[in-house]
Amino acid sequence: MNEQELLAKGYRKYMGKEVDVFFNGKICAHSGVCVKGNPEVFNLDRKPWILADNATKEDLTALIDKCPSGALKYIVKE
Ligand code: SF4
Repeated sequence: MNEQELLAKGYRKYMGKEVDVFFNGKICAHSGVCVKGNPEVFNLDRKPWILADNATKEDLTALIDKCPSGALKYIVKE
């Protein structure tokens, strides 16, 4: 999915330098994979709760790939 499609489906964008993260709270299964996997990036006690630049591109994308519901997506910038 490209950015327009993600936004149209209700995802919210969290911009990063190398990677933009997208999150859809309606899909989230609250499994906690993201917050347990990297609390520097995913922290529900903070606004914004996602800081895409607090991990390397590799670590961030590998963790998002483990999101079981598809609520987290990413787009790596050129
Ligand atoms: S890993 Fe995905 S499904 Fe689990 S809490 Fe995070 S966003 Fe929600």
